[in-house]
Amino acid sequence: MKLASYARDSWTFSGNGTVADGLIELRSAIDGHVVAVASRGGVDVAEMVRYARSTGGPNIRRLTFRERADMLRALAAYLNEKKPSLYDLSFETGATRGDNFFDIDGGIGTLFSYASRGRREMPDERFALDGPLEPLSKGGTFVGRHVMTPLYGVAVHVNAFNFPCWGMLEKLSPAILAGMPVIVKPATPTAYVAHAVFRCIVESGILPAGSVQMIVGSVGDLLDHLNGQDVISFTGSADTSLLLRNHAVVAQNSVRFIAERDSLNAAVLGKDARPGTPEFDLFIREVAREMTVKCGQKCTAIRRALVPAEFLEPAEAALVERLGQVVVGNPRLESVRMGALAGQPQRSEVRARIAELSSEAVVAYGDPEHCTVTGADDQHGAFLSPILLRCENPQNATKVHGVEAFGPVATLMPYEDTEDAIAIARRGSGSLVASVYSYDDAIANELILGMAPYHGRIIVIDRDCAKESTGHGSPLPPLVHGGPGRAGGGEELGGLRGVFHYMQRTALQGSPERLSSVTRCWLKGAPEKETGVHPFRRSFDELEVGETIHTPPRTVSLDDIEHFARFTGDQFYAHMDEEAAKANPFFPGRVAHGYLILSFAAGLFVDPAVGPVLANYGLDGLRFLKPVSPGDEIRVRLTVKQKTPRKPEYGEVRWDVEVTNRDGEVVATYDLLTMNARAHASA
Ligand code: NAP
Repeated sequence: MKLASYARDSWTFSGNGTVADGLIELRSAIDGHVVAVASRGGVDVAEMVRYARSTGGPNIRRLTFRERADMLRALAAYLNEKKPSLYDLSFETGATRGDNFFDIDGGIGTLFSYASRGRREMPDERFALDGPLEPLSKGGTFVGRHVMTPLYGVAVHVNAFNFPCWGMLEKLSPAILAGMPVIVKPATPTAYVAHAVFRCIVESGILPAGSVQMIVGSVGDLLDHLNGQDVISFTGSADTSLLLRNHAVVAQNSVRFIAERDSLNAAVLGKDARPGTPEFDLFIREVAREMTVKCGQKCTAIRRALVPAEFLEPAEAALVERLGQVVVGNPRLESVRMGALAGQPQRSEVRARIAELSSEAVVAYGDPEHCTVTGADDQHGAFLSPILLRCENPQNATKVHGVEAFGPVATLMPYEDTEDAIAIARRGSGSLVASVYSYDDAIANELILGMAPYHGRIIVIDRDCAKESTGHGSPLPPLVHGGPGRAGGGEELGGLRGVFHYMQRTALQGSPERLSSVTRCWLKGAPEKETGVHPFRRSFDELEVGETIHTPPRTVSLDDIEHFARFTGDQFYAHMDEEAAKANPFFPGRVAHGYLILSFAAGLFVDPAVGPVLANYGLDGLRFLKPVSPGDEIRVRLTVKQKTPRKPEYGEVRWDVEVTNRDGEVVATYDLLTMNARAHASA
């Protein structure tokens, strides 16, 4: 199999098919046969960058977030159909069926997740608003808001070898959703899996021309062609990250650089979690699992297992017993729990790192040089036994906190007290994730807050959540992926924050009218439109942003308050006891319930007849700003603030609601959300 690059919407491969011609052989991790050959370069990367900017960018920016989300969903569905052939290829990387679930299913699941978040949480626009209105002037004629727009460059994704599918789709999804074209550079050792997934993406024909390209082999002088509108998103080792980040052009042109790097993640067994407790067993299970899933080639894998000194012996014995049950071998076999490293070069690398660590730790389980292998041959494959190390004095050690053996390797280390455990965990200089195993509030809380500044994620696993927990290592798409310091720099890569890396956040300042017009979101102070027709009589499509009604007033009587109190059962003293209410610093005496004001407001603005308004979906940002006393009058302004299509039959209308008293003072303000029928559905 020849792995061609995909440049300017066509496949291109340079070289004549021999290693002497500069080709790279990619070998099976199971038996060493050549699975694919890749060319070392030969693509015109400058042209690829130009094409992404001139063709891909405009094509993808033309679409709204929702249209892009729809494409991601279609792509995920298409890839779902192709899973069997992808699994088959992925076995050659040493991945078991379970590992494939992480990489292939996980990657496609990430696409689905971004698609549905894009549909639910992003507007049907080419820009997004970020954060609320910022009042900048006393009179309200000068206001501010942040707007996010896609960058005009190209997103360059340099990926690691360990998750060729997930790693690619995890980055592709937010970039495409943001509206940026992408050039993917998969890591060479497992590029044949990334390539197969990418080929499916191209074959699907779902993404517009120029929106995705792939470089197999070297990126050549790609970085020389980047500027401040481009983004490099890198996953891999700290050394390569540093090399790319410090590239002269990257530094000089302030090219955005996102890094996901290696990380010496810790798992901490709490002082309370003695042998025999569920938390002790969960710790042992999780450490053993993290060492062996994906043959330990997971950026989030547990590298440092911290246990109270008094539990060191039983913890080591339990881990040794558990690791002894792990069947290593041909990942295609059902009985095999752990497959191989991605290739023999990776195995040599891991062995070298184990040798380094061995200057501070002793091997408690496994033999780095020999491994019993089931259903395959140890000589030509890249198998390695799980290796458990023990470091007796972690406070005085350095390598165990700084050298990452990217394989089935972890170091067990004792600590004295919780403070000591936190200090040891922090020695990782910033990690992606730490996990805590404790059922004691004080211990767990101290560990969590003590470690949090040094971690992108902390997972607390105990008897109450273990069954449903995703475990130490797997992020959920809406949550943070990334970590501070050594782990990359603390960028949040999960969820919609990941999308925002590919967009520019710009502060807009101006009059409410100007900002309402450009953002298509009505702001108080912008003109109100009165059509003479009640807005509840107009379909989603007919309603205009800014359309407003002002209701007549209604007097709130003491009878109303008492009736409401009896009817609902809410007899809180502020509504029922004049003396007690007066003694309260907020009220002049008995006042109306906030919920009564809301109910009367609805009574004032609702047009009751059957019509396009289908349902009340809820309230956002509700505030009661002034008390309403018996005898006060209230009236309501109801304005169409924003419209978001949801389904072909209906859309969401966000209404700006303001309830005022006789003196024009605002007593309550909120956004009301309704689902309204589209024109054709309500006709
Ligand atoms: P790597 O050697 O640093 O390579 C990473 C990527 O950089 C590969 O695509 C590689 O391409 C490319 N690369 C290397 N030198 C380059 C250069 N001079 N210019 C441009 N690109 C260059 O890392 P790896 O061995 O693939 O991955 C393992 C490491 O990744 C581990 O340390 C692991 O902890 C880390 N990782 C971190 C995360 C995270 O989320 N934090 C996730 C996964 C992996 P070639 O393969 O063609 O050399």
